[in-house]
Amino acid sequence: MGKPTGFLEFERQAESYEPKEQRLKHYREFVDHLSDAQAKTQGARCMDCGIPFCNNGCPVNNIIPDWNDLVYKGKWREAIDVLHSTNNFPEFTGRICPAPCEAACTLGINADPVGIKSIERAIIDKAGESGWVVPQPAAVETGKKVAVVGSGPAGLAAAQQLARAGHDVTVFEKNDRIGGLLRYGIPDFKLDKRLIDWRVAQLAAEGVKFQTKTLVGKDAPKGVANDAAKVVAPSKLMKEFDAVVLAGGSETPRDLPVSGRELDGVHFALEFLIPQNKQVAGGRKNAIDVKGKHVVVIGGGDTGSDCVGTSNRQGAASVTQFELLPRPPEQENKPLVWPYWPTKMRTSSSHEEGCARDWSVATTAFVGEAGKLKSLKAVRLSWADGKMSEIAGSEFEVEADYVFLAMGFTNPVASMLDAFGVAKDNRGNAKATTDGKDCYATSVDKVFAAGDVRRGQSLVVWAIREGRQCAREVDAFLMGSTTLPR
Ligand SMILES: Cc1cc2nc3c(=O)[nH]c(=O)nc-3n(C[C@H](O)[C@H](O)[C@H](O)COP(=O)(O)OP(=O)(O)OC[C@H]3O[C@@H](n4cnc5c(N)ncnc54)[C@H](O)[C@@H]3O)c2cc1C
Ligand code: SF4
Repeated sequence: MGKPTGFLEFERQAESYEPKEQRLKHYREFVDHLSDAQAKTQGARCMDCGIPFCNNGCPVNNIIPDWNDLVYKGKWREAIDVLHSTNNFPEFTGRICPAPCEAACTLGINADPVGIKSIERAIIDKAGESGWVVPQPAAVETGKKVAVVGSGPAGLAAAQQLARAGHDVTVFEKNDRIGGLLRYGIPDFKLDKRLIDWRVAQLAAEGVKFQTKTLVGKDAPKGVANDAAKVVAPSKLMKEFDAVVLAGGSETPRDLPVSGRELDGVHFALEFLIPQNKQVAGGRKNAIDVKGKHVVVIGGGDTGSDCVGTSNRQGAASVTQFELLPRPPEQENKPLVWPYWPTKMRTSSSHEEGCARDWSVATTAFVGEAGKLKSLKAVRLSWADGKMSEIAGSEFEVEADYVFLAMGFTNPVASMLDAFGVAKDNRGNAKATTDGKDCYATSVDKVFAAGDVRRGQSLVVWAIREGRQCAREVDAFLMGSTTLPR
């Protein structure tokens, strides 16, 4: 603990944002990291409270009090080593993690929590700028071959850990670029894609091989992004590799099968976001263009918020977001919920840029003319004991040229799991436990699963955790023992 009275002396300091009028004109990141001095002051606020609930609240169990202390003392080099010891990709989490660690911060019980995520980002940005992030190739090669299917944060974390353990790792990705939803899904203004290229270059220098535009499975999946020019049969992977890690994410979007769903203008969120990301990356200009149009986003999570931010950048005439659930309270009841993640009103930077938000709303129909969407019909809901009912007479209609369905993802693409013959749980995810003997192992010998494909739609930080932990299990399976961290 660098400064025992820091938490009494200093306020939480947020990172600075480019004003919304300016940031809406481009798709670049607009949040600036803390300066060295600001990060030092923020680090001084950590009480090193003895039982670091933040460390437990963080899914990768970042050793937060230690790097807070190191940053306070100006020991940045040591800070990145501690941070990297638990998290392969802090440049992603330091930007887009919702920071459950901060909900668990002890200082947060009666004051603003330590700005943990902003310190994490300051550490990795400084490490990157200082050239401290270099390849760490394994000293000894094991001669074992591992295939990783999917290049999202789970696949990349598993690949990096396994390569560093000396295994010969190949990542197979059906899309044209590496990164999973980090690359195609999460908008550029939240995550600069050069950060993915930077990390992928490190993995490549550590020996990881990448095969893009390569679908592993049998049939091309319907309704999900797929740039594959080549299909590799699971039987080939099973023959040529000593272990396989499935990290294909949870790509099946939840649909809204009401009348008019087929109208031109009703799209899944990723049908909007992925071409937009590709366009920003210099690809074909074929993204849906909502300039001057009325947009309704259905679903209130990260995906919905990204549709809002993208629509506003394109110059939509209006953006409205509907959520089925009731409006959450402005503030949580801290003594009741701490140190857990609270349900409370969350306003993202995209919402701040302009969006009418409405809760307890169910869409009942899409209305169109000549096959083109014109409006959306909805009804208000009342909620009691977790059950919803429609309020009679509350029906209303709003103008809509485009509707983006952002109601989450129900399960991984079944054909990929079926092609391997992997057993599924009752939600359609790859069945594998995370504790005990044979964890992360699927029902098929030498096939493992990690990330959204196993746990269902989740967060980047959980995907990194699962990729790391799964790599440990694969290493133990291949070598009989492992020194990789759990
Ligand atoms: C729009 C959007 C915004 C989000 N925003 C946030 C956020 O701000 N913060 C946060 O923490 N989380 C966010 N998430 C969630 C987060 O992105 C995911 O939880 C995370 O990326 C899951 O990682 P993963 O590696 O398991 O899978 P994914 O990132 O989904 O990667 C899976 C990869 O596997 C590939 N693949 C699948 N099947 C095959 C196959 N058969 N052969 C070859 N390749 C295959 C896919 O093409 C994909 O590239 C967001 C999600 C979405 C959709
Ligand atoms: S990864 Fe997320 S939960 Fe963990 S310290 Fe960083 S911001 Fe907090």
